[in-house]
Amino acid sequence: DKRGTSPCHIACPAGVNPQGYVALIAQGKFREALEVIRRAVPFAGSLGRVCTHPCELDCERRQFDEPVAIRSLKRFVADYELRVGREKAVPVERTKEDKVAIIGSGPAGLACAYDLIRDGYAVTVFEALPQTGGLLRYGIPEYRLPKEIVDNDISYIQELGVEIKTNTPVKDLGEIFNQGYKAIFLGIGCQESMKLLVYPLLGQRRANSGQ
Ligand code: SF4
Repeated sequence: DKRGTSPCHIACPAGVNPQGYVALIAQGKFREALEVIRRAVPFAGSLGRVCTHPCELDCERRQFDEPVAIRSLKRFVADYELRVGREKAVPVERTKEDKVAIIGSGPAGLACAYDLIRDGYAVTVFEALPQTGGLLRYGIPEYRLPKEIVDNDISYIQELGVEIKTNTPVKDLGEIFNQGYKAIFLGIGCQESMKLLVYPLLGQRRANSGQ
């Protein structure tokens, strides 16, 4: 694991240290590389496919030829682990008395659950839909992000001790507090689409060109 803060590390919104895991991959230490990724995020497989990789825009290597293929390398180690088989993650010991509820099992909710469980809290995720993953599962087509990859990323989080209740919509936050949860994280997504202003723009163009 390389030390220090590289531009790609600063550019990563998820706080992943690409410099560290790329160096480990170069040494053939694939499992260790995954550990470096998972220090920041649990979604190595998913991000290895769908991240917009802003890290590569800031890669110093661009000054010589091309940026290091940071995202593809993440995908490579995640796929490697799937191929050779992943050892079950060791459950995290609970060190905090408080329980936290997460509403929504999309990337935000699961990332929050991941951080809290590693901090020693008991965490329960409430998901209204029959399956976990939110946008990862329901918003991205299979050819871009296979469900097998999403399942593996989420299984890892569950193995650490996060409880996930699917088919469990939450209608009243008070009920959650009544169940003994001390805090609630709302990760309910941003599911309203933005309107494409195509027609007004076309109309404007026609108006400006006198049509
Ligand atoms: S590919 Fe995405 S998640 Fe991975 S280091 Fe780059 S910005 Fe971060």
